[in-house]
Amino acid sequence: MSLETAEAVARLGSALATPLKRGVNERNAMQHRQQSLGDTPPDEFRKQLHELVDWIADFRERIDQLRVAPNDKPGAIREQFPGRGPEEGELFERILSDVDNIIVPGMVHWSHPMFLGYFGWTSTAPGILGEILTAPLNVNAMTWRTCPAATELETVVIDWLRQWVGLSDECDGVIYDTASVGIMHALAVAREEAAPTTRKFGLTDRSLPRLRIYTSDQAHSSVEKAAIALGLGEENVIRIPSDDQFRFDANSLGQSITKDRQNGLQPMAVVATVGTTSTGSVDPVRDIGNFCREAKIWLHIDAAYGGGFAMVPEYEWVRKGWELADSIVINPHKTVFVPLDFSVLYVRDLERLRRVFSLVPEYLRGDTVEAEKNYMDYGIQLGRRFRALKAWVIWRSLGREGIVARLREQIRLANLFASWIKSDERFELAAPVSMGVICFRFVGPVAGIVDAGPGSPTPATTGAGSPTPAAADNIDKLNSEIVEQINASGRAYLTQTKLRGQTVMRIGLGNVLTTEDHLHKAWKIIQETADALSAKSQIPTSKSQTSSNQ
Ligand code: PLP
Repeated sequence: MSLETAEAVARLGSALATPLKRGVNERNAMQHRQQSLGDTPPDEFRKQLHELVDWIADFRERIDQLRVAPNDKPGAIREQFPGRGPEEGELFERILSDVDNIIVPGMVHWSHPMFLGYFGWTSTAPGILGEILTAPLNVNAMTWRTCPAATELETVVIDWLRQWVGLSDECDGVIYDTASVGIMHALAVAREEAAPTTRKFGLTDRSLPRLRIYTSDQAHSSVEKAAIALGLGEENVIRIPSDDQFRFDANSLGQSITKDRQNGLQPMAVVATVGTTSTGSVDPVRDIGNFCREAKIWLHIDAAYGGGFAMVPEYEWVRKGWELADSIVINPHKTVFVPLDFSVLYVRDLERLRRVFSLVPEYLRGDTVEAEKNYMDYGIQLGRRFRALKAWVIWRSLGREGIVARLREQIRLANLFASWIKSDERFELAAPVSMGVICFRFVGPVAGIVDAGPGSPTPATTGAGSPTPAAADNIDKLNSEIVEQINASGRAYLTQTKLRGQTVMRIGLGNVLTTEDHLHKAWKIIQETADALSAKSQIPTSKSQTSSNQ
């Protein structure tokens, strides 16, 4: 850790710790605690809560003074904790002090305004309030009877979101933790429709054809994870090449399905994506959906990222074809400002999901009220936390207009960043900007590359217009190093991905704390880091130089 950063961390550590009154007579407090077996006495709890509330407010107010990410070696945090759990109880002050000194410096701060990785992040003050409110209630929303308010509020927020994103009222949903869990449940229903009675008899010893799932080469790996969990096998997920805009190619889909049918395989489902993980691209869902309808194949839409943007009137086009979906997953924890975790799976005729997963053990029979929704019936999970509460708090606090205004700002900032990329010849956009996602690449000039001066469209070339393999490899490494060096510096955080075999840098906007100033600062850091690393880099320009360097 550099001196400068160590000082910053220490400053913030003590800043966050200021509300703590260290003069508490620890021994007395511990003795008192050990004498009573119940919970913390109310007065003490109230005092701790006040400390915690101040801590949270300080953390949120001063988060931009923290490093975005640590640069420690794996295990550095673990070694600061005892190997065995505590024998005796400890005071909250001590625990909070370890949060300041060990946990906070050991974190990647996803809520930091300079965190630009993945899909940005959705921390907001009202979201934090929603999480805090959920903690003391701590109910299990498995059936209506075990918590009517949790069950009914879940139905309410699911329906609010459905209306906001313009999904038909034939669709109803269920809240899970993540989109990965959502797709697994959706494909379980698709499997039941393709191979009836699988719920009862399983897949083995039934002479079933191999069931196939089709998706694009840009789709999320949760498709394969679902196939693994459902006993379908990851090899039966067919990745169809995407087009030049990273969208599912509907023609290739048709060809692949026809070929599989000729070979005796059974198409089970197609997964289209609205907001792919790397570039945010949007598949031609209507074309795919029409094809699925005709071919009687389940269509699942993974709108984990892009679904929230359907709330923005200018982005209504992203919901084209949703009317053809059998199931669709949206992650409000990505784009609708609900704190992680919160994902909604909508199914056209939700009863289809219930038929696959409803199973009431005797000991719960008294807890189920048949006419009411018992959310345990809609998935493998029995115990369920009260996730709807935090969504209700944040959505009431921002309102639809507040959400849309913030999403619009993300789109504006993403396009602004893209304009900076376009105005600097050393960089290029690696994919069309989509929603809050920008993929870009540093391309030169790079030391050792003769034909990559300003304005050179394809740097590191042999003169024939395409990079030598060694030069292309080095540019990949350089882009990767830029990201790694920036992340290690703690000043900003971005991610990298591969597009058409090339390493590219990637920014995902989503944090309400990220302003144009922050983004501009990040852009300067990227430019400086690229300059410094490219000056050091020795990139061979031709095959002859490559071999002479070896
Ligand atoms: N789908 C897409 C398009 C994603 O980008 C991601 C994760 O980033 C997922 C699904 C998986 O999301 P989750 O973490 O909620 O399972």
